[in-house]
Amino acid sequence: MKPEPEAIKLKNGMIHQARKRFGQNFLLDTNIIQKIVDCIAPSSKDHLVEIGPGQGALTKPLAQSGARLDCIEIDRDLAEFLKKQFVEQASVNVFQHDILKFDLNNLAPKKKSLRVIGNLPYNISTPVIFHLLKNHHLIYDMIFMLQLEVVQRLIASPGNKAYGRLRLMVQYFCDIEHVFNIPSSAFIPKPNVVSAIVRLKPHDSFPITAKNPEFLETVIRTAFNQRRKTIRNSLRNIIPEAKLQSLPIDISLRPEKLSLADYVLLSDQISK
Ligand code: SAM
Repeated sequence: MKPEPEAIKLKNGMIHQARKRFGQNFLLDTNIIQKIVDCIAPSSKDHLVEIGPGQGALTKPLAQSGARLDCIEIDRDLAEFLKKQFVEQASVNVFQHDILKFDLNNLAPKKKSLRVIGNLPYNISTPVIFHLLKNHHLIYDMIFMLQLEVVQRLIASPGNKAYGRLRLMVQYFCDIEHVFNIPSSAFIPKPNVVSAIVRLKPHDSFPITAKNPEFLETVIRTAFNQRRKTIRNSLRNIIPEAKLQSLPIDISLRPEKLSLADYVLLSDQISK
């Protein structure tokens, strides 16, 4: 029987049906795979973590670098397949696990050592980034393939429609670089969207520091929950109006007009 278009024949002859619920779009284009690996430039001294290795398009070239490579894959069939593929390579470990429930500390990483890589499942890419940022101090850098639309949100400037919580919180913790775009033809099954590679590098020293980053999150979330309201109206329940008035910020503006420095100033009013 002819396999369905979305069925993929793995190297062990197993037919794998791409699972939509796990956001499975597998990279097929060898030139693009090489371009991504060149961008990661793995070395034997690296401690790599690959999220969603799938059938190993990136895993294999990354493993060839000799780096320690810990892979976290939710799909049981693919995790089993990969365990067999790398059984003789002691530097490669495959964990069958949900990344959103996986604690990076389990990998016993040194401070700022992890290089996290992944063609992320598009349905959970934002929660994955927020989950990893909880352990930003363990991470050297993160190189992800995301929907271009998410990368545009990551690099958006104040005043832009795409500017919001994702941009501000990631900007607080990381330098952000949009590296290059990838057409949908590089994947099987083909997604409906263009993808892009982004590099997030946690700051060595933070350019702006909030007294309490959790308050910063709260202020940003509260402000953008009501995008069309002014800062005065959206934040008056968490910051007294008198304090709002005393800041060098125009509180008659909408949340998308304020910079990260403005939000840090606002959140520092709560922690006082
Ligand atoms: N890296 C492969 C490639 O580039 O061809 C596969 C990428 S595919 C877009 C996303 C992968 O993430 C799939 O293998 C999927 O099973 C896995 N995945 C989805 N949700 C996950 C989760 N919560 N935790 C870990 N892996 C997940």
